[in-house]
Amino acid sequence: RTVYVNGEYLPEEDAKISIFDRGFLMADAVYEVTSVLDGKLIDFEGHAVRLKRSLDELDMAEPCSKDELLEIHRKLVEENGIVEGLVYLQVTRGSDGDRDFVFPSDDTPPSIVLFTQNKPGLADSPAAKKGAKIISIEDIRWGRRDIKTVQLLYPSMGKMMAKKAGCDDAWLVEDGHVTEGTSNNAYFVKDGVIVTRPLSNDILHGITRKAVLRMAAEAQLKIEERLFTIEEAQGADEAFTTSASAFVMPVVEIDGVALGDGTPGPIATRLREIYLDESLKAAI
Ligand code: PMP
Repeated sequence: RTVYVNGEYLPEEDAKISIFDRGFLMADAVYEVTSVLDGKLIDFEGHAVRLKRSLDELDMAEPCSKDELLEIHRKLVEENGIVEGLVYLQVTRGSDGDRDFVFPSDDTPPSIVLFTQNKPGLADSPAAKKGAKIISIEDIRWGRRDIKTVQLLYPSMGKMMAKKAGCDDAWLVEDGHVTEGTSNNAYFVKDGVIVTRPLSNDILHGITRKAVLRMAAEAQLKIEERLFTIEEAQGADEAFTTSASAFVMPVVEIDGVALGDGTPGPIATRLREIYLDESLKAAI
């Protein structure tokens, strides 16, 4: 694989980052994951805008322009022959060659790393046909989940807890209400109404969430952005999650309770089709 590190395209085994890099020592880093379908980038603009917001919120410098970012994405997709897959991008605050809680001076260049992941069958996913089984766990992450940082240890532990329980993923619960999934936004559907938590610092402002809610509104589906509990979702007709890497993923079970007939629901299935179709048309 060819990867990109701080201005250079290199074979992955030659790519190097300092051990003093604050991304490595302090999770002082933000990231984006953009999916590739048909060799094209899905919603690059949305990811670029969110990356800028994450950097601004953390007073981190932009490593390069949006146009340069697009060029790097495209070059890696082409070099690595990605037809269906992902482009991972990470920007860290870099390092001034030592470890310190205080941020290094403003002239310290940020580090930027990009690599591709080949995922044949991403769109026509068997997992989406089956639907996901979810467990719920307490949300003990920090209070700025709207910033897309690489602090992914707890979400990672959540996925492992789900796996151990024979499930696919976990939904996080804070003060009795679902925040989001470990790596996706969470929804249920009851009597034709799509319910999801409103945007705040408590959840990531999903690029896919924004697109799917727009497409749902265009399809005349009703949407309610409000807090909800696991019990309410368990009593729903269907449920789903959204993320840039799994699109719209139907949810068929929550804490052992099957939703509807235990297969992907019609609205989730339809939204997945609409999302894939429209995103592919707009891909660049
Ligand atoms: N919430 C969390 C915690 C996530 O990690 C992700 C995916 N990175 C999402 C939601 C979905 O966001 P997006 O649609 O932009 O991938």
